[in-house]
Amino acid sequence: MEHLLGTGVSKGIAIGSVLIKQEHTSDYKNKSITDVEQEWERFNTARDSAKKQLEELFNQSKQSIGEKEAQIFEAHILIVEDQELAELIKTQIFNQKKNAEWAVHEAAEHFAALLESLGDEYIRERAHDIRDVAARIIRILTGADKHDLPEVDKPCIIAAKDLLPGEMVHISKDKVLGIVTEAGSKTSHTAILAKAMGIPAIVGVAGLLEKLNDSDTVILDEVEGKILINPDSDTLKNYNRKLELLEIKRKELEGFKDKESVTKDGVEVELYGNMASIAELPGLIDNGAMGIGLFRTEFLYTTQTSAPSEEEQFQIYKQTAEKMAGKTVIIRTLDIGGDKEIPYLGLEKEENPFLGCRGIRLCFEKQELWKVQLRALLRASVYGNIQIMLPMISVVEEVRRAKAIMDEIKAELKSEGIEYNDGIEIGVMIETPAAAIIADVIASEVDFFSIGTNDLIQYTTACDRMNPRISYLYSQFNPSVLRLIKHIIDTGHQHGIKVGMCGEAAGDVRLIPLFVGMGLDEFSMNTSALLEAKKTVDQISKQEMQKVVEDVLKLKTAQEIEEYLLSL
Ligand code: PEP
Ligand code: MG
Repeated sequence: MEHLLGTGVSKGIAIGSVLIKQEHTSDYKNKSITDVEQEWERFNTARDSAKKQLEELFNQSKQSIGEKEAQIFEAHILIVEDQELAELIKTQIFNQKKNAEWAVHEAAEHFAALLESLGDEYIRERAHDIRDVAARIIRILTGADKHDLPEVDKPCIIAAKDLLPGEMVHISKDKVLGIVTEAGSKTSHTAILAKAMGIPAIVGVAGLLEKLNDSDTVILDEVEGKILINPDSDTLKNYNRKLELLEIKRKELEGFKDKESVTKDGVEVELYGNMASIAELPGLIDNGAMGIGLFRTEFLYTTQTSAPSEEEQFQIYKQTAEKMAGKTVIIRTLDIGGDKEIPYLGLEKEENPFLGCRGIRLCFEKQELWKVQLRALLRASVYGNIQIMLPMISVVEEVRRAKAIMDEIKAELKSEGIEYNDGIEIGVMIETPAAAIIADVIASEVDFFSIGTNDLIQYTTACDRMNPRISYLYSQFNPSVLRLIKHIIDTGHQHGIKVGMCGEAAGDVRLIPLFVGMGLDEFSMNTSALLEAKKTVDQISKQEMQKVVEDVLKLKTAQEIEEYLLSL
């Protein structure tokens, strides 16, 4: 029986047959459309993105390969800009009522065939270029490799080279028993979403797709980070027993649903939920979330082909606030960049996306887009206790600028006679070392902090959270990170503001006792972590944990800290 190894990222065991996600082939169909203007607009946006991509390729190849080779891309840019091609695409859309993908395909084929018929070899090659450019535009139109999931009609384990955050949202927990991918790491957004959905997942499995075939039976053991292929009957029996034991544990945790979240010495610990879509809200409420500590709103943008309108967002934020019935709902504004992309924005590819134009930086660049979200949030703020959280802050000027933009929106709403909560609380994610170090400066300008450990770890250790090769560095037990966390909590408290945490470490039962000892006010985590977190809180005393903090901060390595916390 063969087995493969990877990194377990979402708890559990899954046993089932494999369904392989094939790589994207820019699938598109000949479709009739009605809104020709919108389709023409889609084409133009995709054409602009294609041009940008090609300009970048031109510059890159000029530097790294040579002037001559770069001319290929120059030629492609000319094709993208070609008026005759655009005219034919326009005719396909306006007269034939064809979808943009098909219109591009038809128009490109027309010109390519024309060139091929001329016989000259050089000219024939140009036909190839036209097809190449058309394929690029179509890839952009179809959302590159988005929404490329196979049809799932019976329970299965999905195996893929990679699953994009946008695809994860289309996965149903009823049908997908487990997920295994070649790419990814513990805090890739795919892993976070799998955890949020409670689907066992293993990522970073080298050679996965070479070894697996559709319908193979596999056992996915998240604890061991192991995928067993076509196991023998004894192994299967063994694992079925393990599954039963997990079920018993799940039932035991159910008992914590109605319990208070209080330590042995009577300190209440706020356990909040993280969500990426409103579909997760019932599960969070059912598992006793006392508030929402992180609504990752970017998934409202990444799961569709155009930006959600103000009204669409307003309805979602309003519903969330209403369902939480006055409890805190912290909504983080658009946090795009890094491993979260939005194809229709046509963002430039960056050398270092995690150090690039992401989070608040992008919101400033795409202010019109951001303002739509802020209007929706402020309008929804009268329906409950909505608080706004800014991602990726690294200097205090960003906070000031964001607040000034918010004031503009407030004035706009006021002049239109639209209601909003003027005293809405505004907080920031502390997820860069820069923000952590000047926490005192930032604290005096905001209402709360929420520690984003996923990014704080990567930026503190200078270790890409997506790169499995250096994952030994990426640890939530890292002493530098833990010292920073203590500093953020202390500084926030000295300035009288609440300090929460919404990175993955907040739901880690090994670390919860330590953070309780540090005085963290609020822990925000995925649905699947809530009950176990409550059980942990139930078993510890805050006073004792304060001593643990002293001990831990004296330890020198992540391993020592992890071992110490495990021994508690
Ligand atoms: C974090 O960085 O800890 C965080 C919660 O944000 P995200 O994982 O969405 O970057
Ligand atoms: Mg982050």
